[in-house]
Amino acid sequence: MVKIRKSDHILEIAYSCVRWFLLAASSYLYLNYYYSASQSLSLFWSMLAIAILYMATTEVALHFTPIASGFYRIVTRIGVVMDYVSFIAVIVLTDGTHSPLLPIAYLVILHASMYWSFRGSMVATGMIIIGYCFVVELVDGGFLIDDLPRHFFNFVFLLMIGVIGGIIVARERKHFIEKGIFENLAKQDYLTGLHNHRSFQEQIREVIANRRPLTLMMGDIDYFKQINDRYGHQAGDTVLREIGSLLEASIPSTQGCAFRYGGEEFAIILYTDSQHKAMELFNLFLDKLRAKVFEHGNDAFQVTMSFGAALRDRGQGKSELVAAADELLYEAKTHGKNQLLWARTERME
Ligand code: GH3
Ligand code: MG
Ligand code: MG
Repeated sequence: MVKIRKSDHILEIAYSCVRWFLLAASSYLYLNYYYSASQSLSLFWSMLAIAILYMATTEVALHFTPIASGFYRIVTRIGVVMDYVSFIAVIVLTDGTHSPLLPIAYLVILHASMYWSFRGSMVATGMIIIGYCFVVELVDGGFLIDDLPRHFFNFVFLLMIGVIGGIIVARERKHFIEKGIFENLAKQDYLTGLHNHRSFQEQIREVIANRRPLTLMMGDIDYFKQINDRYGHQAGDTVLREIGSLLEASIPSTQGCAFRYGGEEFAIILYTDSQHKAMELFNLFLDKLRAKVFEHGNDAFQVTMSFGAALRDRGQGKSELVAAADELLYEAKTHGKNQLLWARTERME
């Protein structure tokens, strides 16, 4: 969705540039070719003032407010209605449906399709055709037989732009959404729902590249093979899934991320270089794990895990950091399991 918003933002900026150009061009056209001394200029000046006010507000929204803000959303969506009203006013002032500015209708339809997809484009096409009919009646002096072929082709082109534009935009939106879903699936572990190994490698590289503080914890379930052997692989899968949920529930996404590293091994990345802070977050998980009782038939059992943890030293690369945490995990396993060992000196239960 973020990508859609960004590309829509660029289109909105393009639309606002086109609006300034069309405002200047239509004012020039009207004053030089369509205005006659018998007409009052008051309608023209008041429309020009409203247009400038709206367009200046749009510029503020586009360049000084966040894309996700309510103000941005309202201003850009009202833009479609403003464009429609301006379109009708401009063709009324420039000789009705004979106006050289009639193709502005296509821009209005495409603008509506940007926000409301196919439905938006069809509604906008309908509204333009209704507006067109009013202009024929009020400005052109009604539907004349000689003009019918011209009106017919104008309607056909409006409908073609509406349908084809709507289909193109709807297809592009669907493609964007599917792409997002596939991207997420490629980064997710199927069993636990946690981020997968590939995502781990990408994220750790990114955190290091952005020079954010980083703590890495590598964890492995103790005696997991026995769970599989005693209760079966499905029970083992349930344990993995539930440990995934406990990790997910313990680490806020602003502070870190948990991954299934592979098999019954997990990794936790924390965006901190404070051991104290890291332990606070880790203990949230540990408390939940200690309280967790797994059930299988009439049996109930608990699970422990061993962890190796390392704060990233400045200059330490990805492989060195993973190797350091991994080495400590191995040490935790060989020194009795069910514990977390920190790089450097500390050893904690
Ligand atoms: P330790 O305490 O030393 O970690 O021993 P362990 O039994 O936990 O570890 P070991 O490496 O001997 O066995 C890990 C087992 O995890 C072997 C493998 O069959 C099982 N395993 C790996 N992935 C999955 C999975 O997705 N589902 C299930 N049910 N089992 C898995
Ligand atoms: Mg194990
Ligand atoms: Mg293992």
